[in-house]
Amino acid sequence: MPPSDKSPLGKTKPLVTPIYQSSVYSIPDLDALDAIMNDGQPGFIYARDAHPNARQLGKMLAQIESAEWGVITGSGMAAISAIVLATVQQGQRVLASNRLYGRTVQLFTQELSRFGVAADYVDCNDLKAVETALSRPSPSGRGVGGEGPKLLFVETMSNPLVRVVDIAALAELAHDAGALLVVDNTFATPVLTKPMDLGADFVMESLTKMIAGHSDVTLGLVCGNDADMLPAINTAVSIWGLSSNPFDCWLTERGLPTLDLRMRAACENARALADWLAEQAGVSRVWYPSRPDHPDRAIAERVLQGGFGHMLCFELEGGRDAVNDFIHAAPGIPFSPSLGHATTTLSHPATTSHRYVSPKEKARQGISDGLIRLSVGVEPLAAIQKEMAKGLQ
Ligand code: PLP
Repeated sequence: MPPSDKSPLGKTKPLVTPIYQSSVYSIPDLDALDAIMNDGQPGFIYARDAHPNARQLGKMLAQIESAEWGVITGSGMAAISAIVLATVQQGQRVLASNRLYGRTVQLFTQELSRFGVAADYVDCNDLKAVETALSRPSPSGRGVGGEGPKLLFVETMSNPLVRVVDIAALAELAHDAGALLVVDNTFATPVLTKPMDLGADFVMESLTKMIAGHSDVTLGLVCGNDADMLPAINTAVSIWGLSSNPFDCWLTERGLPTLDLRMRAACENARALADWLAEQAGVSRVWYPSRPDHPDRAIAERVLQGGFGHMLCFELEGGRDAVNDFIHAAPGIPFSPSLGHATTTLSHPATTSHRYVSPKEKARQGISDGLIRLSVGVEPLAAIQKEMAKGLQ
């Protein structure tokens, strides 16, 4: 199309945000560049720094999360990395829940230690233990000058065993100790809880999961309220190359209008399935926060609004062989080591998300070889049960 000041759209505009699939923008002149870079004038220069689809999605998600700002990253792990890179200095330490996604633990233990940042772990369902761990000096004796941790990092609902934490209480303890609370809200999503409203300093989500919702995107989100932290997060994303691509942002935006519907339908299915699974032969244990035997049922009732999540775990008596038999007998519940797909999938934490966790640590957390993690979808409950029943025969 020849260059023209007149938009071919006339007075119309697209209902849906267009995809700005461009890695760079043309800029009228050097003064215009300076106006964008120095004075915050609207405009884009280079997509690794910022692009319209990420900007738009970040705004929409900040509103959903009850946050002042939202920054999109190339994955959930990139979101965690951006927070750490923007806040933690060499010689400081991170205190984290002792029930986390395996890669997050690897990032904290294996990667941060290379940069002189220590990580300690604590049972975040034991508030007294958290208070002690936050107090100075460090219980592990690490950190410069006995400094307290810079960050306290938790998952609202833990991967995989859906342990639920009291975010408001943890925020208070963290702030009393001078630490920032970071909440990974991936399992809960803002549909069930908005950690910013409960005192979190940063919320991160793997958008790859329920929020994008169709297993065709890899993205992450960092949200916050402190305006001073926004440039630091943006800088970390740009310089360390943690940025997103426009098409993934566009796909994620496409899923937002149905997020609430999808999440609520999946939560209803998951609750019914958890109760049904508990009655089935060969199932030795079910982990779901609405169940009377779940250790955090009372906390879940307070922290989660209108549902107990789309994730559940169940344990098969026959261990690894029984899991393989289940996978072969129930192909309609694919073994797909992610979560948040529109239809039901399963994973095996011991060999996937927590593969690199030591056997001792797996045993402590209850991640056995017979444990199946189910990401429940929105298909009719009877169809899921029918397929599950094949696996349990
Ligand atoms: N946080 C949780 C709880 C997860 O389950 C995952 C991935 O499974 C991540 C973070 C990392 O997200 P991503 O795979 O988008 O990097």
